[in-house]
Parts: sequence; C-alpha cells; structure tokens
Amino acid sequence: MLDDPVLTTNVVDRIKETLKSTETVFHSVMSEYEKQFASIDDAYLKERLIDVKDVKSRVLENLRPKRQKRIFPRGSILFAKELTPSDVLDAISCGVLALLSLKGGHTCHAALIAKAKGIPYLTCVSMPNVSNETLKGDIILDSINGKLIVNPTKKTKLSYLKKQKEHKLLEKILEKDASKNAQTKDGQSIDMQANMGKNPNFSALQKMGICRVGLLRTELLYLDQDLQILSYEKQLSDYREIKAQSNDMSIVYRLFDTGGDKAETGEANPALGKRGIRYLLKNPVVLERQLKALLCSYSGSCVSIMIPMVSDISEIKLVKSCIQKIYSNEKRESLANEIRIGAMIEVPSAALMINEILKEVDFVSIGCNDLTQYVLATDRTELDPNDQFKWMHPSVLRLIQSITEAANKTNQGVTVCGDLASNPVSMIILIGLGLRSFSSIPRNIPLIKKVIAKYSLKQCEKLAKEALDTFHAAKAIESIEKKIKKVLESEWK
Ligand code: PEP
Ligand code: MG
Repeated sequence: MLDDPVLTTNVVDRIKETLKSTETVFHSVMSEYEKQFASIDDAYLKERLIDVKDVKSRVLENLRPKRQKRIFPRGSILFAKELTPSDVLDAISCGVLALLSLKGGHTCHAALIAKAKGIPYLTCVSMPNVSNETLKGDIILDSINGKLIVNPTKKTKLSYLKKQKEHKLLEKILEKDASKNAQTKDGQSIDMQANMGKNPNFSALQKMGICRVGLLRTELLYLDQDLQILSYEKQLSDYREIKAQSNDMSIVYRLFDTGGDKAETGEANPALGKRGIRYLLKNPVVLERQLKALLCSYSGSCVSIMIPMVSDISEIKLVKSCIQKIYSNEKRESLANEIRIGAMIEVPSAALMINEILKEVDFVSIGCNDLTQYVLATDRTELDPNDQFKWMHPSVLRLIQSITEAANKTNQGVTVCGDLASNPVSMIILIGLGLRSFSSIPRNIPLIKKVIAKYSLKQCEKLAKEALDTFHAAKAIESIEKKIKKVLESEWK
C-alpha cells in the first residue's frame, strides 16, 4: 500500500499545498481512505479496513519524534533553570524527592503537577551564586515556607527532622477524618470535588468521600503526544477506561488546554497565544476528534465537557455547533444522550461577560490561576508568591465575587478549580465571597475540610470583606493568613 504512487503523490502534493507537517497530512489522507473502505459493501474489501488502520498507525508511530524519557537519580533533589510538566512527571517516576527551579511560578503547570503528587517544589528561587558545586552536601528544601537551606547546621537539621515528623503525624490525624462531609462550623455544607490529570486515582477519592471530579485536565493525559495525530480510537479507549475506573463518577472533562506553559508553541508570547479553545478552533480536526471520543465513550449517559480559555461567546457557540455536527453525522444511540457544557472563566473578558456566558452554558468554573495572571498582567510562570502581588489580589477577589453573584442568581453551578481552591486559607475567603463548590488537589482535601470546620459563615464573610477592601493587598492577606494559621496551630499543638 505504501508503494502505491496514488497514495504517496497525494501526500506529497498536499504537504506542498498546505505546508502542514507530514504527520498531519498523512493522518488526514489515511482517514479519508478509512472512510472510503468503511462505506464499501464488498465484505472482502471492507475487511481491509483493518489493514488501512494498521498502516496508518505504524507510519505515524515512526514519524512521531520520540521524546526521550529523562532519568534522574532516585532520592535526589532536582535543580533546574526551568521545569516543564513532562520533566516533573519523569522526575516523579524516577523517585526524585524534591524539585527546585530558578524560573517558574507557584501555579505554573509543572508546580501544580508536583503539588498534586505531593512532591515539594520550590520555584522562582533566586540564587545568583548557586552552582552544581555549591549544591553538594546536605540540603533542606522547605516548600511550605519557601526556603532552601544549603549545608544546614546540626541544630537546623534537627529542628527540620522534628518538623518532618510532625508533618507526617498531622497527615495521619487528617486521614482519620478524611471521609467526613465538608461543612463550616455552623453547618453550611461545602461541595468538594477533585482536580485530576494523568493516571487519575479514583479509589483515593472514594476514601475521602469525594464523588465528583470538577476538573479533568485532558491535555495532561497526552502531554508527550502530538494532538494533531492523536487518534479518535486512542481517546475513545482512554475515556472509556476512565469512565469504568471511576465507577461512573461524575467527571468534568476539560477540552485540551494546550499551549501556554504546557508545551513549546514557538509563539513569542505563549500565554497570550493559541491556548485552549483558540488552539482547538484553529485545529478543528483535533476538536472534533476529542468531542466525538467523549460523546461516544459516554453513549447512553451524560457527559460534562468544559471549554478552557473562553474569551468570547462565539467560541462557545462554535463548540456547540461542532457537537451538533457530530450528532447529525453519527447514530444518535451511539452518543451521550445528555451533555452538560461548561465554560472556564479565567480570562478577564469572560469574567466581564459572565451574564451572557451563563445564557450559553450549563455551568461555569473559575480558573483563578489564569484569571490572576491575566488580571495582574503577570506571567504565571514567573508569579512569585512572595512578591507584592501575593496570591490573592483584591482585584481578582472582586472579579471572583461578581462571577459568583451572577451565577448564583441563575442557580447555575459555579465552582472554583484553580489553586485558590486547594489552599485552606484562600478557601475560607472564597466561602466568604459566596462560593460553595470547589475542585481541589485531592491530597489537600482532608486539611481543607478540617480548616473549614473551624470557621462559621459569618467569620468567613468578615475575612473576605477585609481581603476585598484592602488597598495594601500583600499586607492584608498576610495578616489574614496569620490569623487563620493561629487558629489551626492552637488546635494541633
Ligand atoms: C486555572 O487557570 O485556574 C485552571 C484551573 O486551569 P489551568 O491551571 O490548567 O490553566
Ligand atoms: Mg487555566
């Protein structure tokens, strides 16, 4: 088949014409062959469809540049200028103990993956004189307080070993109550959902009494793969597997949010470039394949799909018309019989157009990682939690409050799924702003439940008001943080 000049000339001509990559063109040419073979009545020729599929996948496999998995020494601390999400996954699989990078903010995707896996990660470390030489010997990496101590004194070492023991003890205490319902001191129940990425662990969620995934970052399932050639079949089988493993748990699948700090895009400013839905609309085949795989893997039931990086209502309408097209092309019974469509609110224009967006979708989810970066015009890969902007700026909190008020008026679901929903301090403030639903890093949920139970709604509202009204954000948030930490320390001492 590969010797057939009809095929090869067709591929070569199209590459010249479209200037697209060989993989993309070969994939689309072979998909057309597949369609033709599938529609043939002759039984013998129809069976050759399997050969066409095989040729397609073997050639694509060979064309795809193989990314070498990196190997790091087990038990080491990895120190790098900058880390990508794939580096972090490689490091975790090699048994690296902690991560350290000069560049990178606390909500960049590499850091979020490390947090989700419980690997201490210190980013934005400013150490002009550090070299491989100076980093030899004992190192303490305190990711809770953002400190790196090279060659500590005996006294410091002992005090950290004690802290480490206490930390492990605290985890055990929290584990005991992990499955309790999340509620405030005065009984307001709080809906806790989970954020998930690669290798979702559903049994850990069930132990914590969590029965919903509020954000499945689907792009993390395919970090090392070219989405242009990622097949419908592969996705269908992966989503079916996730559905089965989750025991039909309710899952919000976020469409591929590629670009930004997740992959090399070659753009001058990836954060403002073709990220999320912008990329998908420019690559409609990728969008269509993902939507079709999601709709088919949930055939006969309900699927929740969320659109990332919405900045204009037309983007939601285009996704809906792509879904319509799939419904008119496929047999209805092979597709989900109910779809819930949600929009991420993480770009200021979407936050400001919230009333109009709510008319188009079933639910919204606030992505405060990106909302913070775009409101403050500060790259999230450089956002140092210790700088003057801190991690909860009143301008971001005010926007979150107005999104929440708008959604609460319509009774449509509003959830926060960014990092602010994974930190007990910010959660208290978000509850005070009127939020009742959060999607968090699973391993933080037991601590969050414990902290929430210490505060009444009135107390949360009072703290939220303080955080909203301040003109000196950093100082105010720091003092709120201290207050909350004091309450917690008194409990556990
Ligand atoms: C966010 O931006 O807050 C969010 C949840 O999405 P991500 O971190 O994947 O960009
Ligand atoms: Mg985002």
